[in-house]
Amino acid sequence: MVQNPVSTAQFLRPTWVEFDADAIAHNTRRLRQIIGSRVALMAVVKADGYGHGAVAVARAALANGAAQLAVANVDEATILREAGIREPILVLGYVDPSAVAHCIAHDLTITLYDSDLAREMDRRASGAGGRLRAHVKFDTGMGRLGLLPDAARQFDIGAFPSLAIAGAYTHFSAADEDPSYTAEQLARFKALVAETRFMASAHARSGLRPLLHCANSAATLSMPDAHLNLVRVGLALYGLSPSAAVPLPADFRPALAWKTVVASLKTLPPGHAVGYGNSYITQGEECIAVLPVGYADGFRRAPTHYGEVLVRGQRAPIVGRVSMEKTMIRVDHIPGVRIGDEVVLLGAQGAERISAEDIARRLGTINYEVVCSLLPRVMR
Ligand SMILES: *Cc1c(COP(=O)(O)O)cnc(C)c1O
Repeated sequence: MVQNPVSTAQFLRPTWVEFDADAIAHNTRRLRQIIGSRVALMAVVKADGYGHGAVAVARAALANGAAQLAVANVDEATILREAGIREPILVLGYVDPSAVAHCIAHDLTITLYDSDLAREMDRRASGAGGRLRAHVKFDTGMGRLGLLPDAARQFDIGAFPSLAIAGAYTHFSAADEDPSYTAEQLARFKALVAETRFMASAHARSGLRPLLHCANSAATLSMPDAHLNLVRVGLALYGLSPSAAVPLPADFRPALAWKTVVASLKTLPPGHAVGYGNSYITQGEECIAVLPVGYADGFRRAPTHYGEVLVRGQRAPIVGRVSMEKTMIRVDHIPGVRIGDEVVLLGAQGAERISAEDIARRLGTINYEVVCSLLPRVMR
């Protein structure tokens, strides 16, 4: 088995994340092939790049054909700017009006989804003596952020002289499972863009070719009609699959592995308790390894845990409760285990792999939440 060389992260902390920038580069180039040369790619790097590290993901994506970035809030955008990234950054979520001057100074693009809030943003931008770039968001059926159709028709983009409206978008609520609902949302979006004469008025106001976008990963992979002139891709960029109905092409590569090491190894006698609450009692003599990882790293304790990990290319079950910083596994069936051996919590080892999708099934959640749940204290 090939062991990875010891990294700084591994030296300082025995539990670490390995980030594969080549995988992001590869996935970005594949996404570029899928969307073609007339559609722009926005790499969604909110939540610290879905737990992968936003700056590293953004750099790899931008170097391989992504033109823009999207994040959830002004803080995430500022981190990218401070890392020297100059490409357009769209803030998808709420921006407090007090941040308007900061947004202008950092050349951020905000999302407008409420007339009163837009008016306040415009007033603040004017006060700051600048123009704030913005995209308008329509709610076409998700019931989250966005102007509902009536509000969209009343939204006068000419009424905000200090906002440079450079795009309009909507978000799909079920692109990974309901193509007909998604097609309806797309039709509603196109109708609203036409009715509000969005393209003509946005172009007249900002002098820019307006961007129209609605596709997330699932729609980018399964619905070419929805590409419009830009797609907003998160999940697929990271090599994660939207759903069983919308799988990722087989050659996409996951970009994250989560690893730790064997910290202790001993044989416990029959009838011995393992972990808090004595919830596991050995049947016979059992070889138990301790791993220096726990729920303080995001290694879930309850209501269910990861179930198993990889040691020497084989699956080893977790026994007893996961503690804050420690987890016990059973390794009787794996010959030659030693202290210091690499243990894979998420990722591949030898011929075996534990995917984010496998873990999601065990935890009763989705792959998105699995990667976003690795806490910041785990070094990237
Ligand atoms: C997170 C997000 C995306 C990316 O979705 P994926 O399914 O990860 O591709 C796109 N648009 C918006 C508004 C989002 O919040």
